[in-house]
Amino acid sequence: MPIKIDMHVHTCYSGDSLTTPSELIAQLKRKRLDGAVITDHDTVLGAIKTVEANRSSNEKLIIIPGIEVSTRDGHILGVGLTKPIPKGLGVKETIELIHEAGGITIAAHPQTLFKDGIGLSPKILSLGLDALEVVNSSLFPFKPLTKMCKRFAERHNMPQTAGSDSHMPETIGLSYTIIDVDEVGVDAIIEAVRRGSTIPLGKAVPVSLRIKKILKMK
Ligand SMILES: [Zn+2]
Ligand SMILES: [Zn+2]
Repeated sequence: MPIKIDMHVHTCYSGDSLTTPSELIAQLKRKRLDGAVITDHDTVLGAIKTVEANRSSNEKLIIIPGIEVSTRDGHILGVGLTKPIPKGLGVKETIELIHEAGGITIAAHPQTLFKDGIGLSPKILSLGLDALEVVNSSLFPFKPLTKMCKRFAERHNMPQTAGSDSHMPETIGLSYTIIDVDEVGVDAIIEAVRRGSTIPLGKAVPVSLRIKKILKMK
């Protein structure tokens, strides 16, 4: 059965986000998503708090703990882990640590102008990545960068994911991954992503919300 998961969401534990775990859960419900991967910058605390908030709410969403690690070479998402991964290491070492902690790895916004991605050169193919984030709502310019990422993933037969990269409640669910799973659960979702049973969908953050975020963070 297909489920809709926003695979890249930040909470207030990221430091540069305003979304509390309970707001995040309310917003997922409002947008009719099945769940999200919580990927705060260099901490798993927000993910753990959101899993707890979901458990004590009546919503029963699928909250998958994760992290967005700032490696020396760009941002890497770890999905399905609650162990903290240190920042500032090389990308290959970071990927190995995430795998040892039981998670899968996704190159976040690999091709960017204003963010920190690892790039789309063929040398990323030997890093042990499990998937490529080909749709990220915060990318600018959205369409050409998305096209480049999708083309690279298709050419190299890599599983594709999508996430909003939300740092505020309003943008949650702008992008999401449709994942075809046999059963609903974190392990089944991770396995489906690894085998590429995913459809990445989404759109860019509207300019009005980009400005609102900049003003709010000041
Ligand atoms: Zn990032
Ligand atoms: Zn992010």
